[in-house]
Amino acid sequence: MAAGRPYAAAVRALTFQAPGEVRIEEKPDPELAAADEAIVRVEASGVCGSDLHIYHGRVPVEPGFTLGHEYVGTVVATGDAVDAVSVGDRVLGTFSTACGECFFCARGDFHKCDHGRVFGHGATLGSLQGAQAELLLVPHADLTLRRVPERLGDEVALFAGDVMGTGYHAVVEAGVEPGSSVGVLGLGPVGLCAVQAARAAGAGTVLAIDAVDDRLLIAERLGATPIHLTDDDPRAAAKRATEGRGVDAVIDAVGHPDALALACRLARKAGTVVAIGVYAEAIEINMAIVWIKALTLKTGHANVIKHLEPVLAGLASGELDPSPLVTHRMSLDDAPEAYAIYDRREALKIVLRP
Ligand SMILES: [Zn+2]
Ligand SMILES: [Zn+2]
Repeated sequence: MAAGRPYAAAVRALTFQAPGEVRIEEKPDPELAAADEAIVRVEASGVCGSDLHIYHGRVPVEPGFTLGHEYVGTVVATGDAVDAVSVGDRVLGTFSTACGECFFCARGDFHKCDHGRVFGHGATLGSLQGAQAELLLVPHADLTLRRVPERLGDEVALFAGDVMGTGYHAVVEAGVEPGSSVGVLGLGPVGLCAVQAARAAGAGTVLAIDAVDDRLLIAERLGATPIHLTDDDPRAAAKRATEGRGVDAVIDAVGHPDALALACRLARKAGTVVAIGVYAEAIEINMAIVWIKALTLKTGHANVIKHLEPVLAGLASGELDPSPLVTHRMSLDDAPEAYAIYDRREALKIVLRP
């Protein structure tokens, strides 16, 4: 071990108790169990939409499990096989882990790793305790963690391993090039990050579609054309912007059958639809539209490990800047209140500090 145990015997952590109930608990401090693990003292963590699914009981998690998967902190211990980061390094990490050795990792499909685990999502996703805590045990640290570039603040860095990484992934999958026209459906944090990443990739027209005025305003400030889902006519707007063709690519950052159906309508012939919003049930899709238009449909959660370097470069240069999305800063001790605020949709991104 590169370090002993320079931390307390018990740590505070935000744990799931029952639907609608989370609480701060004292838990035993994590210990290294494998040579490729590291322990990070968490300095900032985010509250995310997927935490809310757990909070509502839609994603089953055991009572007492620590939540959270967006984090920045300092390495306090490493196993002997960890090379990429050292004790004392300020690091950020990805929401999921990958083994680096299986068939899928060898292809670079880290998000589909046979041994992939997700922080803070209970036994079904690998029993990896979450980051809304003072200390975090990180498996496969060389893949999961990166040093934070100099001068990059915690609040910006913690977007790299999940929200901005996901927006960036959607834009890569959409095949956005200089001059492309792009539609983004759903302006939560991921949709707004997709707007930024699309602009950074050189998209000429970005139509940002949502029903919440505040979010449309932020999208406009980020360089998009705001389109109200119901007050405006998204299909007419897409045609107006593209000489009647429809947009080159549409990113569905909602995860609802209506959003996917609209995305297929907004895309041009031989265009691309990227469903980055979460789909966990069988839904109907109008295959006739997909087929007649020769659409390419891409799906699945983001390969954030693969995209970490370009995302961090974009954050460091300021080309990608999610700081306008941070609406609340709270103490970890107030995390139950943070969940209630987030549940009332009063926040875009809440940053917790232990
Ligand atoms: Zn998240
Ligand atoms: Zn793997």
